[in-house]
Amino acid sequence: MGEVNLEDVTKRYEDVTAVDNMNLEIRDSEFVCLVGPSGCGKSTTMEMIAGLTIPTEGTISIGGHEVTNLPPKDRGVAMVFQNIALFPHMDVYDNISFGLRLRKYDKEEIDRRVERASDIVQLEGMLDRMPDEMSGGQRQRVAIARAIVRNPEVFLMDEPLANLDAKLRVHMRTELQRLHKELDTTIIYVTHDQAEAMTMSDRIAVIDSGQLQQIDPPLVCYNEPSNLFVAGFIGSPAMNFVDGEVTEGGFRSEKVKVDFDPADVGATAGDDVTLGIRPEDVYTLNDAGSLANPTKEIEAITDVLEPMGDEIFVYLLLSEDATVDLDEESRGGMTDQLLMSVDPDSDISEEQDVNVVLDRTKVHLFDTETGDAISHGLAATAPTGTDSGTAAESDD
Ligand code: ADP
Repeated sequence: MGEVNLEDVTKRYEDVTAVDNMNLEIRDSEFVCLVGPSGCGKSTTMEMIAGLTIPTEGTISIGGHEVTNLPPKDRGVAMVFQNIALFPHMDVYDNISFGLRLRKYDKEEIDRRVERASDIVQLEGMLDRMPDEMSGGQRQRVAIARAIVRNPEVFLMDEPLANLDAKLRVHMRTELQRLHKELDTTIIYVTHDQAEAMTMSDRIAVIDSGQLQQIDPPLVCYNEPSNLFVAGFIGSPAMNFVDGEVTEGGFRSEKVKVDFDPADVGATAGDDVTLGIRPEDVYTLNDAGSLANPTKEIEAITDVLEPMGDEIFVYLLLSEDATVDLDEESRGGMTDQLLMSVDPDSDISEEQDVNVVLDRTKVHLFDTETGDAISHGLAATAPTGTDSGTAAESDD
C-alpha cells in the first residue's frame, strides 16, 4: 500500500535547516501536492521520501514499513524530476522499457505497458526517436512514461511539467489526474505553482521555511487558510490584507471599518489584527445588489485596470476623501489598497471615484503578530445594525 508518513523529520545542511520537524501523513492513493516558494524545502522533503537524502532526525515510512535509511530502489517509488537524464544512446522505447527489461518482464507485457504509457503522455509514433531528436518537453514525457510503466506504489514528481510549454502543461495536468484515477496510486507532487496544486490535488501541503503550514483539500486551503502565509500563497491574484485593530465595534483601520462583536470571533478590543479579503469578494455598490451581507462602504479611487477577458482586475486606492484630483505624490502616500475583480462588461474606468463593500461572510481575520487565523467569515449582519452597506457616514 502506498501510504507515506513523515514523523518529526528534520534535515539540516550545516547552518541551514531545509526541513524543520515535518509531520506529514499521506494516505494510500492520495494525490498530494507540496507547494511553497523556492527554497522552502519541497525538494528536500521529496528527496528524503525517495531515499536520495537521509534525514538528520525523524523517521519516514512507506506502506507501513520504515524506510528512513533504505536505498531508493527498495522503496517501491518511481521518481520524475524536472531535469532527468535519459540514456542518450537508446531510443524512446528502450528508455521507457529499460527498467522492465532489467527485471526480465516478458516482451508482450513490456510492449503493452510501453504502449499504454506512451499513449498517456502523447508519445505515439515517437518510440523509435533518439533523445537528441526530441524537444525538452518530449524528453520529459519519456521520463514520465518511464515511471508509469513501473506501476509503483508511490509516484514522486518534482516539478515534472516545469519545462513544458503552457498548453501542454495544462493538458498534462488533466492527464496526470486521469493517470491517478486509473492507477489508483499515491502521487506526491512538488510544485511552486499554486494553480497547478489547486487543480490536481486531493490535498495540498503548504510549506514555508521548512515547516508545514497546512495540509488540507484545495478549497479548504482557499476558504479557511490556517494563517497569513497560506492565505497569501493560495489564490491568484493574492488575497488583500489590511492591518488594523479590534475595537468594541469590530475591525478598524484608517480606511476600512467592519462591524462585528469581537466576542463572536474570539478577539478582544486592542488586538492587532489583519483583515483578509479576496479580490472576488470586493464589490462596487452597483454590483452589490445580489450581496446579502455587505460591510460598510469603503470610499476608493480606481487606479489601474487589468482586463483579463473573463474578469477585470481593478486596483483601488482607499481614501476617506477619495478624489480623482489627487496628485501623484498623495496617491503614493496612500497605504491601504485593495484589488477587486469585476465583471468583464463592467463600465468601470481608471481614476474614478467608487464606493466598494466587502462580503461579510468572506472576511478573514488573522492575528497580525503570529499570522494565525482568527476567523473565516463574519456573522451575516453587524451587531449594531450600522453595517448595512448604506451607512458610509456612520462612524464610531
Ligand atoms: P525548494 O525545493 O522548496 O526550492 P529545497 O528543498 O531545494 O527547496 O531547499 C531548501 C533549503 O535547503 C534551501 O535553503 C537550500 O539552499 C538548502 N539546501 C538544499 N539542498 C542543499 C544541499 N545539498 N546543501 C546545502 N543546502 C541545501
